[in-house]
Amino acid sequence: MTDVITGGCQCEAVRYMFNGPVPAAYACHCGECKKQTASAFSMSIPMTFDALTVTGTPKVFETIAHSGKQKFNYFCGNCGTRLWHSDSNPPKNITLKVGTLDVSSDIAPAGHLWVSRKQAGITLDPESDQQQTQPDDLIAWRNNLEKI
Ligand SMILES: [Zn+2]
Ligand SMILES: [Zn+2]
Repeated sequence: MTDVITGGCQCEAVRYMFNGPVPAAYACHCGECKKQTASAFSMSIPMTFDALTVTGTPKVFETIAHSGKQKFNYFCGNCGTRLWHSDSNPPKNITLKVGTLDVSSDIAPAGHLWVSRKQAGITLDPESDQQQTQPDDLIAWRNNLEKI
């Protein structure tokens, strides 16, 4: 399947497209992801930035990840929508925020990080890979997820 996948921020100042299929997605229930999304959890797909065709220029701000590594968080400077994260600036390997896809409702999280911090009332698919915190090799874990 080589569908063209499209997405962008809420105000449409930043738009992107890439060729499908969409890689396996995962959710993270940690406190940082609750802040970042202003919601119960984040949902992301790992991919390479050069797979994206981007119009508009996101802003970036830096945080420190659970691993202790620097993390670059790209967002729309106009509407504030978080778009993707990377361990480098300019970005190379990214995690794209699933909620920014124009059509995302058929994407199930194949894995869950920081289930120990999960919001009350959120029930997870028992078929999913559930981590109480996060694996030491997070990149390998997310790249090995299989769609459910
Ligand atoms: Zn925007
Ligand atoms: Zn998180």
